[in-house]
Amino acid sequence: MRRGGLLWRLTRKRRRLPASKRDARLYRVRIALLVGAIVVIAVPTAISLERSFPWRNDGKRIALTFDDVPRGPGAFYTPDERAALLIAGLREAGVEQAAFFANPGRIGPANRADERLAAYVAAGHVVGDHTFSHHDLASTAAPAFLADIDKAEQWLEGRAGYRPWFRFPGLNQGGRDRVKRRAVIDGLAARGLQIAWVSVDGSDWNIEGQTIAAKRAGLPIDDAALRDLYVETMVQSADFSDALIRRTIGRAPPQVLLLHETDVAARYLPALVAELRKDGWAIVTADAAFADPVYHDTSDFVSANGTLPEALAWRKGVGGKLYYERNDLLLANRLFAERVLHRVPSASVPLISRGCPVKLHPWRRVCPSTALAAPLHTPLGIAA
Ligand SMILES: [Zn+2]
Repeated sequence: MRRGGLLWRLTRKRRRLPASKRDARLYRVRIALLVGAIVVIAVPTAISLERSFPWRNDGKRIALTFDDVPRGPGAFYTPDERAALLIAGLREAGVEQAAFFANPGRIGPANRADERLAAYVAAGHVVGDHTFSHHDLASTAAPAFLADIDKAEQWLEGRAGYRPWFRFPGLNQGGRDRVKRRAVIDGLAARGLQIAWVSVDGSDWNIEGQTIAAKRAGLPIDDAALRDLYVETMVQSADFSDALIRRTIGRAPPQVLLLHETDVAARYLPALVAELRKDGWAIVTADAAFADPVYHDTSDFVSANGTLPEALAWRKGVGGKLYYERNDLLLANRLFAERVLHRVPSASVPLISRGCPVKLHPWRRVCPSTALAAPLHTPLGIAA
């Protein structure tokens, strides 16, 4: 600061407190001018920086995405009721834009799912590609996988709300098979499609599956407990990814939360958004999230079968746990049984020794030694 300049005169320390009321008034005027100067200089600068580098804002931001449109019936609603509740819940929660990832091969006159998809778009949301048939890349050759993407694109392209975003079924980008992954990634680039990475996964689809199974088994479901487990799990998974990406790349891009078109989402979405906000999260649009450069990385990974923070951390050799623990279905199902069904797992229930029934992510192979076999056999429907 230049000695004798305006800011120097405004901020220089006074040798003694003002002796008279006149001096005190002058002192207050100086402070007011200083605050004004800071506002005039700092606020436009911050706004300008935010506009130039929107990804530099390191607050907790998250976009909502829903996979598997259309999913089959859940435990509580018809598909039409579910879609109406989701739309109302998003509106009620003030979510400007969520993304829905469709499997056009499951859309037909029998389920009128195209009307529900159009209703999501009419409500301000956008639609991306989740393949035509929801085939897993692990069991599909790259050319056939790309052909299935093309079929979906033929259905989606040109429709209102369409975005050129592709989400891998099961989040499986080929795992450790770099050759197959490269063929698909290059194929996506040639088609102008962006990978619609997930950064936050709490295996919401499994909570839906457990709920359906409980309903079919005639077991009483504690609605408030189910809401709390669902909301708590999704918020925890968001915070897990927030911490992981910060220690991996040193900043916090907007997160992308994986949800599915489920009854539990329709039932508890306003509660979930309220809890995310209470936890410090701002809900951003899918457009804003996928604009961040971190989601444009098409380079190779050691393995790509899960969330982006997991893949980045695994490649960089970041220490500590790399996956959110409730993606371990043994643990997740035990929590569901205890908290939602009020069943106390018996110590006599054997541990599953054949290995963990979780996806074979390299970073998700650990089964907690305390995990017990799930009391219900699920999941129903499809995974991720
Ligand atoms: Zn899926």
